[in-house]
Amino acid sequence: MRECSIDDCTTTAAPRRTVCHKHRTRLNRYGDPDFTQWTVADDLDVQLLIEQQRVPSGATRLERRLIALGLSDRGMSAARVAEVVAVDPRTVHRWRAKTRQTAA
Ligand SMILES: [Zn+2]
Repeated sequence: MRECSIDDCTTTAAPRRTVCHKHRTRLNRYGDPDFTQWTVADDLDVQLLIEQQRVPSGATRLERRLIALGLSDRGMSAARVAEVVAVDPRTVHRWRAKTRQTAA
């Protein structure tokens, strides 16, 4: 495992990549590794991460939420989802409730 090639970033690079998940997403989307936006999410990556039931340390808040909801859809308990996504179980419950509201 090697580190992300972006200056000052100590996150491990994604498999077969030279930059970490967060920086790759920023570069793909904006051509700028330092761009920050709460709403950045890569659809393909999110689906893959749901399959793999894992969340990279550089994942944005939105990506964590999408992965959490994807895992919930597969019948995973809120406690387990919280563990995978590394958030408080109450956060998972809140995300789920908000999604139900939006869908209704
Ligand atoms: Zn990085």
